[in-house]
Amino acid sequence: MTHIAAVILTDEEGKILICKRGEGGSCAFLWEFPGGKVEEGETPEQAAVRECREELALDVTLGPAYASLDYSYPDQDLHFTFFCGRVTGGEMEVRVHEEACWVAPGELKDYTFCPADVALVERLAWERQIELPIMPEMAAKLIGMLNAAGYEAWAVGGCVRDSLLGKVPKDWDLCTSAKPEQVKECFGGTYKVLDTGLQHGTVTVLADRDTYEITTYRAEGDYEDHRRPEDVTFVDSLEEDLARRDFTINAIAMGPDGTIIDPFGGQGDLKSGVLRCVGDPEERFAEDALRILRLLRFASVLDFTIEEETWQAAYNKRKLLRWVSGERIAREMTRLLCGKAAYKVIAQSGEILTCVMPEIEPALNFTQKRGGEEQNLWQHAADTLAYSPDIPEVRWAMLLRDLGKPYCRETIKAGDSVFEGHGEVSAQLAEVILRRLKLDRKSRDTVCQLIRFHGIRPATGDVSVRRWLQLLGPKQVSSLVHIWWADAAAHHAKAEKLQEFEHTLKETLEKAGCYAVDQLAITGGNLLTAGLAKPGPSMSNLLDWLLHEVVEGRVENTKEALLDKAREWQG
Ligand code: ATP
Ligand code: MG
Repeated sequence: MTHIAAVILTDEEGKILICKRGEGGSCAFLWEFPGGKVEEGETPEQAAVRECREELALDVTLGPAYASLDYSYPDQDLHFTFFCGRVTGGEMEVRVHEEACWVAPGELKDYTFCPADVALVERLAWERQIELPIMPEMAAKLIGMLNAAGYEAWAVGGCVRDSLLGKVPKDWDLCTSAKPEQVKECFGGTYKVLDTGLQHGTVTVLADRDTYEITTYRAEGDYEDHRRPEDVTFVDSLEEDLARRDFTINAIAMGPDGTIIDPFGGQGDLKSGVLRCVGDPEERFAEDALRILRLLRFASVLDFTIEEETWQAAYNKRKLLRWVSGERIAREMTRLLCGKAAYKVIAQSGEILTCVMPEIEPALNFTQKRGGEEQNLWQHAADTLAYSPDIPEVRWAMLLRDLGKPYCRETIKAGDSVFEGHGEVSAQLAEVILRRLKLDRKSRDTVCQLIRFHGIRPATGDVSVRRWLQLLGPKQVSSLVHIWWADAAAHHAKAEKLQEFEHTLKETLEKAGCYAVDQLAITGGNLLTAGLAKPGPSMSNLLDWLLHEVVEGRVENTKEALLDKAREWQG
């Protein structure tokens, strides 16, 4: 365990200073707090002050130690001691450009961090009780209207959970003692009401261009095939409605005045970052196996730990996941993969995930030797998730990119292995998985293409960059760069070549370099006028060849140069 003394530097408005990892600027998405390792013979305070000076050229005065926590990054266990500190000397301004900036906790979501750091920053912001979003006026008004008509009504579920966590909920769901017909009657004269989910007791109200789902208190009917039932029974009390919900943190109700109804201890679990089933976990997962994946998804998105009994039950009931439809699995998996703690959850849940993706099984116990060190393939896939941005296709590719390795191992001297062709085999396995999960075709093709190319180390230089852009287009090449970086970061490899490639890529894209026919400084019309081609296949062959010559750097992308070049084509 390494002891890190870190400083949360605050300005007068209580904003937090965040710093980009300086060295080499190698990974755009790696951030860290000012601070560093406590050396022998040093107090944490001394280490913090020293590091701020060394790292940021700032003098700081520290408050008392404000928080401490243990944190597992993919590669090491750290014990942090945090101090609140104010800047007392040194020039902040010079460092502000790109490397460090002040942000209000509410603005954290606008920044791209290393996922592990987001979790840390958010937790700290939350512990400091930074302003909680309050219920939007419209949600409060709808509750008021139901109350005025003699019914109970509450905000419930994800919106209460997120607002207690200091996040802005994406939508506000309400629950009420009024039956669907009564809800419609209550709002019908004022707002547009849709009965989208009537058989589940849900009515959608369109108010102020927002939609609000209002669901009658209900219990769920009998479960069939371990999936949510088609029909429901309405109940009279809020408590009964909360009891049917999956996890304690999702079973809290809130009134417009901030009143909280929390019969299952959800707030306590929110505070300690714990996921726990409401009621008997085995029963709850047996009723609806999708909850197993929701559990993993919430653990990843919120970076919460899973309470022991709940985890055991999820594990014991994992085979019931075979009853869940591909689409629902894909939806949860994508959210799980894009969560900030995906690297932890994936590492922990391989055996559960084999029940929805049996193709991953050979990877779970497969070890490869890398630079003399044994490395587990699944663990490595999980680790690299921590270093890749939360773009769904990139995360899916990171997860599945090495599945083909167990099929392609060849041992070379010193016991190290090579895996020639594993990109292609992995892409084919990914294709099978993603087809079964009914991921949309475009995303599936994108993921498989990224996997196919992930193992290539790109050559540097303008020509190479243009070739890559011509082959895959800018979006895919940027995604590949993310994947290459993640691999390098997970190995702590110095990747100067990749840095150079990325730099040239940026330049090429900024100066609108030419890597597609429609970027040529010449059109078919120009060739026609110059008498160099006729409409038809020869024209498009000529344009393709001109592009090839530009990409290879043998001709400049100007009209004159291209016309001259086209004359050579005539032979
Ligand atoms: P998000 O909207 O961020 O996905 P959420 O918690 O709001 O999170 P929803 O799927 O919108 O998730 O569901 C709303 C609420 O309904 C949940 O908070 C939970 O109380 C309940 N719920 C949803 N799905 C289930 C389920 N499969 N079993 C039990 N309760 C569920
Ligand atoms: Mg929701």
